[in-house]
Amino acid sequence: MTYLITPSKLYAYLQCPHRPWRDLYGPQEEKIKETNPFVEMLWEKGVQHEKDVIGGIGAILDLSNPDKDTQFARTLEAMRNKTPLIYHGYIRYNDLAGEPDLLRLMPDGTYLPIDIKSGRGLEGVSEEEENPGKPKKHYAVQLALYAEVLIALGFAKDKMGIIYDIDHNETLYELGKPMGVRNHATWWDLYQETKNEVRHLLNNEARNEPALSGACKLCPWYDSCKGWCTKNHDLTTLFYLGRSIRGTLAHDLELKTVEELRDLDIAIAMGKKAGNKSFLRGIGEPTLKKLQTRAKVLADIKKPVVNGEIHFPQVDYELYFDIEDDPTQSFVYLHGVYERSPNGSRFIPFVAKEKTPEAEEQAWKGFISYLKNLPQDKWCLYYYSHHEVTTYHRMQKQYPDVILLEELDYLLSPERAIDLYSQYILKMTDWPLYSYSLKDIAKYLGFSWRDISPSGALSIQWFNEYLKDKNPTKLRRIIDYNEDDCKATMVIKDYLEKSK
Ligand code: SF4
Repeated sequence: MTYLITPSKLYAYLQCPHRPWRDLYGPQEEKIKETNPFVEMLWEKGVQHEKDVIGGIGAILDLSNPDKDTQFARTLEAMRNKTPLIYHGYIRYNDLAGEPDLLRLMPDGTYLPIDIKSGRGLEGVSEEEENPGKPKKHYAVQLALYAEVLIALGFAKDKMGIIYDIDHNETLYELGKPMGVRNHATWWDLYQETKNEVRHLLNNEARNEPALSGACKLCPWYDSCKGWCTKNHDLTTLFYLGRSIRGTLAHDLELKTVEELRDLDIAIAMGKKAGNKSFLRGIGEPTLKKLQTRAKVLADIKKPVVNGEIHFPQVDYELYFDIEDDPTQSFVYLHGVYERSPNGSRFIPFVAKEKTPEAEEQAWKGFISYLKNLPQDKWCLYYYSHHEVTTYHRMQKQYPDVILLEELDYLLSPERAIDLYSQYILKMTDWPLYSYSLKDIAKYLGFSWRDISPSGALSIQWFNEYLKDKNPTKLRRIIDYNEDDCKATMVIKDYLEKSK
């Protein structure tokens, strides 16, 4: 049987090179059937954006059709008839197939494929640093597949495509161009390589192993792959050791398991590296030592190790803080703080109950005034990862009337605002865990969330549902979830403090 190579398979491969194989040949009974709520939300957002775009475009020929043979025949006919704009045509050639959102007739009679995306057209765009950004790999390979099929069918000449993005901008992807200033390989080369790898995996002529990474938590194979990695003592069960480092360690040192890394003689490995630039490329002695320590913690010590003494400020008010936001829409709907003081403990939520800039500003203003009204120099704010601070800087630009930048920087200065993850967990601790997320570490320490399925992604879903029906139970669920995140932060801080 020949399996079709489609844009979604190329995308899956770039997210995780194991995914195309596992989707076909993995133990299907272990695959989670429910769609991850965050993935579903992104999908819905994409569908809505596409509807909005198409609604405003005017005359198009809509060829959407569940019967692919009919859809293909009608697409060929429409292109032969020089239809100006085709929506959801279906094109295929040999084992390549795809459904570009739009096919646009060009003045020379050829067709240009266009995909509508609910993200930005380029990555790394920064107005402040005047960085124009560069093409996204997963967009480039998808457009390249359309271009190859159109060229093969005689409806295109150039290796090109367009991304129509969330801001309604069109970005031309010139796929024959080099990927970077120093990287002379072209986007087309990347596509060819990706396509060939995917072809081998789909036909079961090649196989690779699961590797735990950030992408896994959104993947329906998460439990299955995690089980495989744990059972095989795979190196990716170590925090921060991903597929690429695992590949290098396996190739250069023949290491496959956590125990083999634990027993590695680093001095001998470094001796081999001296004078051989390609040996252990990108992995220096400090990294190897760090990873070996984690291997020992996971294989032998089996409990967290805190390196050095940790001293936190001794203040009257300890504030454990977390925000709930929808990053896809840059909207913050809750600032929660769990306050611990000589007067006792309490949780204070500052909520935006409408999805409007006014409501968002008001909620943020409430939280900022709360901070400003605390006794000066007698409080300390704890949070987990830089997301909150980064978001607050964005909000300051959006709502400058709430607080001046200098004041915000004062409130969030490191002596009174402590990022437990970046300042302590990453730098001074090792855990027998592959993920150092708030949930993974707090659960390891025995903390449990009241909600049966706590997650930031679900919180966004609950908020969107609340906006529709204003059901207070849904809002309560969000607030309780946020309170538990704040308490989990407190549990981690207390653990670190006791470990002196
Ligand atoms: S769980 Fe992780 S390793 Fe497994 S297929 Fe998904 S992304 Fe890949």
